[in-house]
Amino acid sequence: MTKTLKLFHVEYLPKELEPGIFYVSKEFKVAGHLCPCGCGNKIITPLGRMEWKFSENNGEATLYPSIGNWQLPCRSHYWIRKGKIKWSYSWSDERIEKGRKVEEEKRKQYYDRLQAKNKKK
Ligand SMILES: [Zn+2]
Repeated sequence: MTKTLKLFHVEYLPKELEPGIFYVSKEFKVAGHLCPCGCGNKIITPLGRMEWKFSENNGEATLYPSIGNWQLPCRSHYWIRKGKIKWSYSWSDERIEKGRKVEEEKRKQYYDRLQAKNKKK
């Protein structure tokens, strides 16, 4: 598992990415790296105001927001901050949490409606 990513400025992203390197092309507003879980999948992140925000301090890359590779079998979810990988909770947990909140909200709305009905009587 990769814990750090070295920042590497390029004009074009190479076809073969090296593990542990975060490639950035400012010309084409795109960054690429290999999934840090070790699965070897290429992760390409477009950079821009509506996409990922890349910043650099002391030669270390920070990307915002987090990267969620839910389309990959590994479902990696992590942040890149100052060249370090910060693992986040998995997407499935997040989905479960979201689903639970939706259910809760539905239940609450149901009871609120029920109460409103009862008050009218
Ligand atoms: Zn992976």
